[in-house]
Amino acid sequence: TKNDVRGFFVRNAFVIFTVAAVIIGIILGFALRPYNMSYREVKFFSFPGELLMRMLQMLVLPLLVSSLITGMAALDSRASGKMGMRAVMYYTITTVIAVFIGIVMVLIIHPGKGSKDEFTKQQQIEQVSPADAFLDLIRNMFPPNLVEACTKQFKTQYAKRIVHVKMTVNDTVFALNGSQEITREEMIPVPGAVNGVNALGLVVFSMCFGLIIGSMREQGQPLKDFFDCLNEAIMRLVAIIMWYAPVGILFLIAGKIVEMDDITSMGGQLGMYTVTVICGLLIHAIVVLPTLYFVITRKNPFVYIAGLLQALITALGTSSSSATLPITFKCLEENNKVDKRVTRFVLPVGATINMDGTALYEALAAIFIAQVNDYDLNFGQILTISITATAASIGAAGIPQAGLVTMVIVLTSVGLPTDDITLIIAVDWFLDRLRTTTNVLGDSIGAGIVEHLSRHELQNKDPETGNSVVEE
Ligand code: ASP
Repeated sequence: TKNDVRGFFVRNAFVIFTVAAVIIGIILGFALRPYNMSYREVKFFSFPGELLMRMLQMLVLPLLVSSLITGMAALDSRASGKMGMRAVMYYTITTVIAVFIGIVMVLIIHPGKGSKDEFTKQQQIEQVSPADAFLDLIRNMFPPNLVEACTKQFKTQYAKRIVHVKMTVNDTVFALNGSQEITREEMIPVPGAVNGVNALGLVVFSMCFGLIIGSMREQGQPLKDFFDCLNEAIMRLVAIIMWYAPVGILFLIAGKIVEMDDITSMGGQLGMYTVTVICGLLIHAIVVLPTLYFVITRKNPFVYIAGLLQALITALGTSSSSATLPITFKCLEENNKVDKRVTRFVLPVGATINMDGTALYEALAAIFIAQVNDYDLNFGQILTISITATAASIGAAGIPQAGLVTMVIVLTSVGLPTDDITLIIAVDWFLDRLRTTTNVLGDSIGAGIVEHLSRHELQNKDPETGNSVVEE
């Protein structure tokens, strides 16, 4: 009936707007391509999108800290220990599967044909050792200055070296010398140059802090109330931004389509490579993760995914899983009714370290580069790639194209030329969006699975303290 139809639209308004935004964005983008806009014009045009990115990023920091602290404080240490174990198990298993899919796909399809003539080389990238990179990962877990960790760009020593080389043409510099017109040919995507925070360090700190507050019982109550309230307030801000999100996504997508390189140049090896990545990500996102969800929870995974649609599209639009975090929270808690004690605990950690799409991508890309160089990898080297790809996905920040930066670790580990990252830069903006969407999906399905596995702990809630009680 008419009322049903209206009800449907009202209930799904956000999703309908968001899907429409993507479609209109794509059409608008292609319609405007023939006009060959200058770099500045593109920047003006995508301004509403840039604003969305900034608004979301603005909320990430307080959201991440307050949700982790309240999440940890609401659980007693045994319950959070158990939940943490389950989350880590889930992260590990899904990341290993993702890497495996990436490797199998690239070996079967074999997009690299042992010749580099098709590629245009762009710039030099410095050599770094995997050991440096691993130490950087650990270093970032313990930021010496918390305030700095909140404000500084996400920076690792290896990222810094790469970014340095390309800094001259990135957006930041453009903003500083606003009068300078930069031509489109000069624009090179700048891995890691987008503003982010050292999320890993903040996650580690907030988890420990929350646990301590939880263990302090009454004494910890004021801080618990404070962060609870902060979290609630931030979520209300998110609710407002959600109304703006479709507009922002429309312009983010349209702007990117306007400025992207000609699609015809994507033939040959790069085209095959793109197809290989897409297939790998699709298998992981549409087959592996839903199956896992179904097997464990016995619930329909696609109903669950439908509830997440807005988060997934935001990931596609922003190519940042941490910028998407506020929307992921909303979708999971409101549409899918996942317990807040779970989302607060699992989502911030997941957005920071659990990146299935990135892991799959890094392993696949490294082997592709080997293929292009006609470099035969033995089993040991493929194993090394899978281990370093996992580490690289943990170390990648949830910001656009971070995965490209941490690829350096993977390539150096088997002696491949790190310069060759530039071979795949041309398509990375696109593949980044897809792997970010996979990353967000992985985190969200993880929340559903961890909630299901932890249902006993979650049931026995101590009404007085709000702490969950684990039976002996
Ligand atoms: N952009 C991705 C994310 O935010 C990370 C990556 O570059 O792979 O999840």
